[in-house]
Amino acid sequence: MTIEGKVVAITGASSGIGEATARHLASLGAIVVLGARRTDRLERVVAQIEADGGVAVATRVDVTDPDDVRSLVGLAIERFGRLDVLVGNAGISKISPVADLDVEGWSAMIDVNVKGILHGIAAALPVFRRQGSGHLVTVISTSGLKIVPTQAVYAGTKNAVRTLLEGLRQESTDGVLRTTSISPGYVRTELIDHAVDDPEVLEQARQNMAELGIDPAAVARAIAFAIDQPEDVEIGDLTIRPTRQN
Ligand code: NDP
Repeated sequence: MTIEGKVVAITGASSGIGEATARHLASLGAIVVLGARRTDRLERVVAQIEADGGVAVATRVDVTDPDDVRSLVGLAIERFGRLDVLVGNAGISKISPVADLDVEGWSAMIDVNVKGILHGIAAALPVFRRQGSGHLVTVISTSGLKIVPTQAVYAGTKNAVRTLLEGLRQESTDGVLRTTSISPGYVRTELIDHAVDDPEVLEQARQNMAELGIDPAAVARAIAFAIDQPEDVEIGDLTIRPTRQN
């Protein structure tokens, strides 16, 4: 089975890369099961997918709560009988030099970006093993490949997930689980709006993003490519960045 008919759960599907991925996969015939905290936004995405002839359902999910993530996987099973792919996409960025000691922001990033993925693994892995197949796709970042000032902790959370997935991959060579890490560069989404508190720095960051950022659909196409492979082919790592990104 390639994309058509696969049941794909996506965290952080209310905007940006998650929303674009939901739309794109649904347009290719996947059944999408969407989670995020902003249910009004999720309902809009579901309605648009349905209007375009696709199949989508959604539920409120805060990935910092393991029960919420379990409910997302449960919804897929309850409505469609299986879960083929979990896209662990929900994430936040808090940009500041380490010396600013944004302890709250560090904790929030660890909770969403790292624990959120662990909660996804805890919810989906037993299902994948029971089914005899499953695919875990995580959205990490080029921030973890080229470390830049002000993003040390964010990069650390993304590289924690990179490491986690490689360990999980090595523990899963019985052919049941496929793992894919997607590393986007600058993508035009709302991420930056919540990343910086200083209005001047935020304005500059928004300008950079407007000039350089690529459409989230580019990342959605990469995720679709990874999913659309035969069972015996695993796309391990994909980097998608603006051509002009340094
Ligand atoms: P957005 O801010 O548009 O999307 C982030 C998504 O994560 C939203 O749907 C948000 O939904 C969700 N989210 C945040 N916190 C939680 C939570 N606690 N529980 C559930 N969902 C949550 O940004 P992007 O689309 O850019 O971000 C998607 C992923 O891509 C992130 O992991 C980000 O780190 C990564 N990324 C983004 C890059 C970029 O340049 N944009 C570059 C590299 C990586 P809601 O608020 O409704 O819960």
